[in-house]
Amino acid sequence: MNAEICTTVRYELEQRERSLLAPFAAFSADSRGRERAEEECRYRMAYQHDRDRIIHSKAFRRLKYKTQVFLAPSGDHYRTRLTHTLEVAQIARTIAKALFLNEDLTEAIALGHDLGHTPFGHAGEAVLNRLHPDGFNHFQQSLRVVDLLEKDGAGLNLSFEVRDGIIKHSKGKGQILSPALEHTAITLEGQIVRLADIIAYVNHDLDDAIRAQTISAAQIPEACRYTLGDSHTRRINTMVTDIIDESRKEPGALKISTEVLEAMTELRAFLFANVYESPAVYNDFIKASRLLEEIYSYFQNKPHELSEKYYPGYLKHCSFADNLRDFIASMTDRYAFSLYEKLFLPHPWNIK
Ligand code: MG
Repeated sequence: MNAEICTTVRYELEQRERSLLAPFAAFSADSRGRERAEEECRYRMAYQHDRDRIIHSKAFRRLKYKTQVFLAPSGDHYRTRLTHTLEVAQIARTIAKALFLNEDLTEAIALGHDLGHTPFGHAGEAVLNRLHPDGFNHFQQSLRVVDLLEKDGAGLNLSFEVRDGIIKHSKGKGQILSPALEHTAITLEGQIVRLADIIAYVNHDLDDAIRAQTISAAQIPEACRYTLGDSHTRRINTMVTDIIDESRKEPGALKISTEVLEAMTELRAFLFANVYESPAVYNDFIKASRLLEEIYSYFQNKPHELSEKYYPGYLKHCSFADNLRDFIASMTDRYAFSLYEKLFLPHPWNIK
């Protein structure tokens, strides 16, 4: 090792990681590295640096105006994609720290996991999946954002382990624990984010749905209330504590008790049936889908307008279809509304 590296703060921090973290943690100094080699920061370790790059990205700031479940909610207390992301990061860090895993890596993956999310939540995702020739899902798009779209086509050049955790975070309606091996992150830190994402959304979507009076607290299945607890705080705490306690019994793997896993699975099924697919939410889902479909077909008919007028991030070496997908996926809810208005609604003449 060259003497200059050994005197950096980063080197000292990397050494500290080795003495503090569990042997199966992802050590920053052991990262498989970045796609393009670059000189590492003198005082930040690789995953710390990645987290900071994500926070400073434009895609991260746009999460503020992207739907979680309820479209462009006017109430100040509803979750957005940004607050969802922060809740995932908090839960993931708590678990990672308690298991002596790499908190920086967990946080970087958590903050980046939904960067590719469309406007209008899963309505946007479903539209692009139907219209784009190669289909669409938000986790692949999140990777595309960090690999390519940020910094005008240069990407953020993140570490392999952060990129791996981002692409493998999603679960849809699939199994909560033990997904197929190809969908399992190679690091425990990445696997934690996948669980933290589920813990965050089942709890905050339930909380928001009660706030919106889509459901009442009394409708929550009895078994869930019994096992997980009778309040938002207790339910999150039960899930997080269970994962920490069970995983500490068998170090090196993420575990959850059968009882809590069953209650979480039932709670998620309850949310699908009574919130995500409820008429109140679904009717907005249909409206949002139509709005994005119309924008999509507008640009298919006037492709030159996309590159010349509306999408400064247009990448000439990518196909038109990919650029259109990237443009629509990048929109915030409010940008999609205002673009629709501009493209399709007549404007009153302002005659003085
Ligand atoms: Mg998420």
